[in-house]
Amino acid sequence: MSDGHDVLVVGAGLAGLVTTLELLEQGREVLLVDRCLPHEVGGLAREAFGGMFMVNSGEQRRSGIRDSVELALEDWLRVAEFEGSDVWPRRWAEQYVTRARDEVGEWLKRYGVRFFPVVNWAERGVYGDGNSVPRFHLTWGTGKALVDATWSAVRRHAMVEVRFRHRVRELTMDDDRIAGAQIVDEADGSEYAVTSRHVVIAAGGIGGNLDLVRSNWPASLGGPPKEILMGSHYYADGAMHEEVTRVGGNVTHLARMWNYADAVRHPKPRRPLHGLKLIPPRSGLVLDPAGRRYGPIPLIPTFDAYYALERMCEDERKYYWMICNWKIAKRELDVSGSEHNPAIREKQLIRFLLGVLLGKPSLVRYFVERCPDFVTARTLPGLASRMADLTGDGALDAERMETEVRHYDATIARGRPLFNDDQLRRIDQLRRWRGDRLRTARFQAIDDPKAGPLIAIRMTVLARKSLGGIQTDLGSRVLRDDGEAIPGLYAGGEAAGFGGGGMHGKRSLEGTFLGGCVFSGRLAARTIAASA
Ligand SMILES: Cc1cc2nc3c(=O)[nH]c(=O)nc-3n(C[C@H](O)[C@H](O)[C@H](O)COP(=O)(O)OP(=O)(O)OC[C@H]3O[C@@H](n4cnc5c(N)ncnc54)[C@H](O)[C@@H]3O)c2cc1C
Repeated sequence: MSDGHDVLVVGAGLAGLVTTLELLEQGREVLLVDRCLPHEVGGLAREAFGGMFMVNSGEQRRSGIRDSVELALEDWLRVAEFEGSDVWPRRWAEQYVTRARDEVGEWLKRYGVRFFPVVNWAERGVYGDGNSVPRFHLTWGTGKALVDATWSAVRRHAMVEVRFRHRVRELTMDDDRIAGAQIVDEADGSEYAVTSRHVVIAAGGIGGNLDLVRSNWPASLGGPPKEILMGSHYYADGAMHEEVTRVGGNVTHLARMWNYADAVRHPKPRRPLHGLKLIPPRSGLVLDPAGRRYGPIPLIPTFDAYYALERMCEDERKYYWMICNWKIAKRELDVSGSEHNPAIREKQLIRFLLGVLLGKPSLVRYFVERCPDFVTARTLPGLASRMADLTGDGALDAERMETEVRHYDATIARGRPLFNDDQLRRIDQLRRWRGDRLRTARFQAIDDPKAGPLIAIRMTVLARKSLGGIQTDLGSRVLRDDGEAIPGLYAGGEAAGFGGGGMHGKRSLEGTFLGGCVFSGRLAARTIAASA
């Protein structure tokens, strides 16, 4: 069987859906192919929390935040640490920061997407060197709402054919121009060819292939961890990156990844090594495997994800402990993603507001009872003994852990004017931003019988996002070594490092991934639509 098409889009994640939608709106015909089952359409965005990095938005202004493209770009370039050769990544970063508000946020609103009125403040940086102001616009309905909006708009069009459970195995070329692809029907294993004038790779990153994650593990983080939890798409296997390389396209910066240090094993795993990225309490103490508090600057989650991973990876065991109690966890513990945020996902306003006001006791109970990385006890020695049992590696010094907790609690007991501890100073600052005030406990001691039981969470590494990928120009065209585009071949979303083969550089300010999928997908579609 062989069939001819105008545009073949590989992957129906957010990047593929947006590309398809924009092409359809511009009157083009599309064949959209994905390995997944129909109910999995939307890829990782379906599971995502839905935070979007945008600059100088209406939501920011109404929250009293004065932001600007200049300020945001200054922040972005500082964390990206681009090298001189990062020409395309840097151009993509500049374009994204300048245009995301209108071409991502406002465009999504046309399809019914709405954002929370209070903007969240992610990645402030350990030294105030991250986001200078809040920019994380949380989607009402989580990432699932983005998928629902774009997928339902795609389905309203007649000029699209969607094939689920079909895997693109090979790209085919006609001289130096893309000609189509070889596709496997996964239902029966049969293979067929399609011809297409344009092919867009939107097949995700490499985070689903832990062998690739390990072999590209950044040297600055030491050797790759023996155990890595999976937090990416199980079809994000890097096969399309390999195909692009084979046909002469550039793939760059695969060693740049956005992996997390705050992960636990999924209580109900749906795939091997299935992990969850927690949003851990900021009022808990982070201790190394020996029970020592990180210093001299304490490690406090959510300020700088890369720094947290660097600190965790200093120890070859590559895990750390979060010590808190029930009262802290109830108010502050959360999980990134749509799965454990049903009130936001299902747009249940009253349930959501109750969660903000009263905390999330049922979420904490669920994790305490079901997650193998949570242990509880009434006393610190009891907790230490459970922690030691959990790892079985003999690393924990129970006395040291107790000393660290007592020292921290004693500082709190001295009263606010005498808070000579960087964590308490940062909690004070967190509580001044209304997006964090109600989600941050009020200087809560750890070993407090009225706040118990004590909880210890063992956090490990989770593979999530690929910051590098297929190199593209600002029209999402795939580039060769000589800097020329491969005619007819495009890439978008995580496959393209969200644009340019790595528009984040080394690190992200968060919420930049979903936005990067929308932006790069739209640019790919517009380049194709503008072609003859
Ligand atoms: C729990 C969670 C929370 C997140 N929260 C946020 C957030 O708040 N903000 C943010 O910015 N980002 C967030 N992210 C990241 C973001 O969701 C992803 O980076 C983004 O959705 C990637 O989209 P994509 O379309 O590029 O790739 P994917 O979603 O990986 O989609 C790729 C698609 O291609 C298909 N495919 C792969 N290979 C082939 C092939 N050979 N043939 C056919 N089909 C193929 C796959 O089946 C898949 O459907 C989160 C991610 C997770 C998992």
